[in-house]
Amino acid sequence: MTGKMQGVTLVADWDPKPGFKLGTKDIEGRQTYLGSLVWRNPRIEIREYDIPTPGPEEVILEVKACGICGSDVHMAQAEKDGYIFYPGLTGFPSILGHEFSGVVVEAGKNARDKRTNKPFKGGEAVTSEEMLWCGQCRPCADGQPNHCEQLDEVGFNINGAYTKYIKLPARTIWSLEPLRKNYKEEDIFIAGSLVEPTCVAYNAVIERGGGIKPGDRVVILGAGPVGIAACAILKRAGASQVIISETQPERAAMALKLGADYHVNPAKEDFADRVLEITEGMGADMFMEATGLPTVVYPGIERVIWEGRTLLTTLVVTARAEAKMPVTGEVLQVRKARIVGAQGHSGHGNFPRVIDCMATGMDMTPMSTKKISLEELPENIIKLQTDRSECKITYVAR
Ligand SMILES: [Zn+2]
Ligand SMILES: [Zn+2]
Repeated sequence: MTGKMQGVTLVADWDPKPGFKLGTKDIEGRQTYLGSLVWRNPRIEIREYDIPTPGPEEVILEVKACGICGSDVHMAQAEKDGYIFYPGLTGFPSILGHEFSGVVVEAGKNARDKRTNKPFKGGEAVTSEEMLWCGQCRPCADGQPNHCEQLDEVGFNINGAYTKYIKLPARTIWSLEPLRKNYKEEDIFIAGSLVEPTCVAYNAVIERGGGIKPGDRVVILGAGPVGIAACAILKRAGASQVIISETQPERAAMALKLGADYHVNPAKEDFADRVLEITEGMGADMFMEATGLPTVVYPGIERVIWEGRTLLTTLVVTARAEAKMPVTGEVLQVRKARIVGAQGHSGHGNFPRVIDCMATGMDMTPMSTKKISLEELPENIIKLQTDRSECKITYVAR
């Protein structure tokens, strides 16, 4: 395939803050693992690109849908001094977009379809991991791809999916064909674009948190897409009570629609009192911290662990935050509780399991509350800086 395509591109100036030193994986002028210390004056431009061609182990997808993520918003958002909000791996200019689905239109000769264990035929509906783990470093070799030491990230330091065609290694591609039975054509791709954030939740509560037993009680703090997905997964895993803590009414309503049983609004009522009341003094087997505000929410979590009668509670920390958590070790000791961290979505069978859950009733498509065109992406990414009322805005290719 040859020709040109438009890509929604993040452009920024390489202007490291005083004292910044290039890390071992950083590339002067192009890439850093500490975005907010380096990139200044972000702007979004629609630029023209050549349609990519695949290497022997790569595939080209025609993009069908791609959701806007909070990290897209934070890459395009500047502090007063001009530096971008987003703290992580970034390499600009780069086409944004990492929560996507599409169809295979071209594949290299060694690219294999994991669904069939045969070469791709073309036309398969697929999604992809956003983390392009290398497969060769020590964490990858140990089966820990979410901690890859040579990571590339689609839509962060290499070109993403806010465009028409995208090139990816076959190893990160997962089939959406199981969705064909229960979803309309467009919804296959909307659902497919929600697999990545749902896998972040699955990796957190099932893989890292160790999952739950049917009948367990769970509390999710923060009803962003990952928090909402955790509600859906844990309800399906058999939780007897799924409690969502969220201040924003639209997001709480979406969590209640997709799996939560109770809503606590910590801006209007005491979080710990209310959770203890709902659980009749038992507290919870699992908490998930998905707000990014640990200093605000942790004291309430700790009080429920301390005063609730459930032992062996697991708190999974999913949201990123620089702030320290005010943890009392004594509470963890007496209540046999633990705190675990979770990052990423890759490996551990997360993608195929989430897709099979979606194929058999865990419909996440209501999360996509607004559909837009490629041209409408820049204004919507900017608008999300101040307006959080939409749950997920999705670029749909037409
Ligand atoms: Zn994301
Ligand atoms: Zn690696």
